[in-house]
Amino acid sequence: MSMTATAVRDQLKAELKAYAAALGVTALGVTTAEPFEAEAGILRERRRAGLTSRFEPETPTARRDPRELLPGARSIVAVGVAYHARPSRLRGPEAGGSGSPLRGWLSRYAWGEDYHRVLHRILARLIVFLEARASRSLRAVAWVDTGPLIERAVARRAGLGWIGKHGCLIVPGAGSYVFLGEIVTDLELKPDRPVPDGCGSCNRCTEACPTRAIVFPGVVDARRCLAEVSQWRQPVPEALRRPMARRLFGCDTCQEVCPYNRHAPETVLAEFLTPPAPPRPDLAELLRLDGSGFRTRWARSAAGWRGKKVLQRNAVIALGNSGDPAALPLLLACLDDRRPQIRGHAAWALARLAGVPGVDAGQVRRALGRALEVERERWARAEILMALDRLPRPAGPGDGD
Ligand code: SF4
Repeated sequence: MSMTATAVRDQLKAELKAYAAALGVTALGVTTAEPFEAEAGILRERRRAGLTSRFEPETPTARRDPRELLPGARSIVAVGVAYHARPSRLRGPEAGGSGSPLRGWLSRYAWGEDYHRVLHRILARLIVFLEARASRSLRAVAWVDTGPLIERAVARRAGLGWIGKHGCLIVPGAGSYVFLGEIVTDLELKPDRPVPDGCGSCNRCTEACPTRAIVFPGVVDARRCLAEVSQWRQPVPEALRRPMARRLFGCDTCQEVCPYNRHAPETVLAEFLTPPAPPRPDLAELLRLDGSGFRTRWARSAAGWRGKKVLQRNAVIALGNSGDPAALPLLLACLDDRRPQIRGHAAWALARLAGVPGVDAGQVRRALGRALEVERERWARAEILMALDRLPRPAGPGDGD
């Protein structure tokens, strides 16, 4: 390639970075469209060990080799968009929410508008920009959320940052509260260099994880990761219900303790500052929502995609973990829900709440006894039996002699 062509290529990348920054992109890097063989191998190993996310598809060739996705692909443009926002900066009717124990928690990434839509809009504008500068029609495909390993591997190879021990990409100067997206294109752009790992001897995320899910540096056991478990459609394993605390969707603990997030810049995008749903949802209100109410309130939120039952199931667990006697009538009502998952988790939550001062354990025992008489669903019945077993024993004649 002549010096002139190289200079043109560098100039185009510099212009792209400036344009992306004006759109709210925090970091942009470029890598080649070479396959991700090593990463695909690691993913296969993790899958064999049962550590990978249920939301991660099997590894089709297209994820391993970008050229299978886009024949003739030469470059991948990787972008990182900061979504971090202090609660005090949120605006709009849903921005409120106190620290009341009868409110749940959403992970920060779900506070704003669904990031898939926001990032796809940005990536589409970047493609238009590149086409205009290249003076030809480009072959280009945009990706958002293509699976953690490959997506982070693309970003790492494009020089956006390194993969921290918690498995998230850390962008120097911007931390890990960053959404990732990519454009695969047949346009040749100068690749960036990967940045060195900055975790060093720090282990804060590994130590802070409530379920000890970080099993090796950069390897998270998805079967225990609350960010993952809180999105499962099947029941939450009993051992993970207490650690879930009042998490309704996602978990930020490993990122909150990371020193690189201490001074993370805040998002500049209005979409992430105007929550479509409350970041600290009122649990009673969430449980009252019917199908159309849920769609109206949660359709634009990234937390809405798993549906009403998952969030309401987590709300039941959160009430059990609230330590607030005011949760009692809400949970008693859940024993009559038509969905076995809600009834079964409510039984667990009631047994947990029964130990809270101000809660009548006898009332809980009687309610669970009545529920057992009419329960026909096997899993929910087993949950009620276990809940009855966990209740504080009533004082009997001779106790205290
Ligand atoms: Fe790395 Fe420490 Fe951040 Fe974990 S908390 S990702 S070990 S810097």
